[in-house]
Amino acid sequence: MNNEKQTIHEFDLTIIYDFFAQSERQGPGSSEETLKALDFIKGLTAQSKIADIGCGTGGQTRVLGEHTPCDIIGVDSWPNFIDEFNQHAEQHHLQNRVKGIVGDMANLPFLPETFDLIWSEGAIYNIGFERGLNEWRKFLKPGGYIAVTENTWFSDERPAEIEAFWQKAYPEIDTIPNKVAQMQKAGYLPVATYMLPERIWTDYYAWQKQRRIAFLEQHKDNAFVKDFVAMMQYEAELYDKYKAYYGYMFYIGKKM
Ligand code: SAH
Repeated sequence: MNNEKQTIHEFDLTIIYDFFAQSERQGPGSSEETLKALDFIKGLTAQSKIADIGCGTGGQTRVLGEHTPCDIIGVDSWPNFIDEFNQHAEQHHLQNRVKGIVGDMANLPFLPETFDLIWSEGAIYNIGFERGLNEWRKFLKPGGYIAVTENTWFSDERPAEIEAFWQKAYPEIDTIPNKVAQMQKAGYLPVATYMLPERIWTDYYAWQKQRRIAFLEQHKDNAFVKDFVAMMQYEAELYDKYKAYYGYMFYIGKKM
């Protein structure tokens, strides 16, 4: 790539992705939690098809591949993540059933009623929970499942500092009953709704903390990197302070 032709925006994005590419996961989550959610999905066979949307480098896709007999397609908009995704699939001898493609979750290249299961961990927020549920539904076969994680308020009220932070970062953050109502309104039977453990966030932020140190060292005197790192540190500090008020929930629905 010719650096001179890159816009600042593209350059910044490259740095952000570079920060996260080294991790097995690019968001809060764990193999254990992926398996727990998978347990709610019934009737998958070797003929079943799964889409993992916003798959990143495929940490959770590998778990799905190892614990189901299905064909799985991972979709992510970032080509470097998809390259890594496909390398990991080969390393784990899953390449015949698990493939990654570059694509936009707002414009998925699939035929209607293709999938038995749509999975999306830590990614649906990129187009918004309600929009994702509504737009992806057509790609599910009747009776197919959707399983997503989503940042959620645990109560109706919370301190102003955390309210202001998330209203700016993700205005669609909402309470559990409102999210479940949105799922039902989009045409799914809400099969399961449960909270992911605090550990997935503390592990994620602990990894970030280590990475921040190396990253700052690597990009000395880069003002964007300094701001980016400070912003992530602020988010982690807020989590520590206000984790009683919000966190990731798994929402699992069945197409009605
Ligand atoms: N599911 C992975 C990655 C979560 S991070 C995990 O849990 O580890 C969110 C991912 O969404 C990133 O990989 C990012 O590249 C991807 N993403 C963001 N916007 C997207 C879009 N419009 N279409 C497809 N993927 C997108």
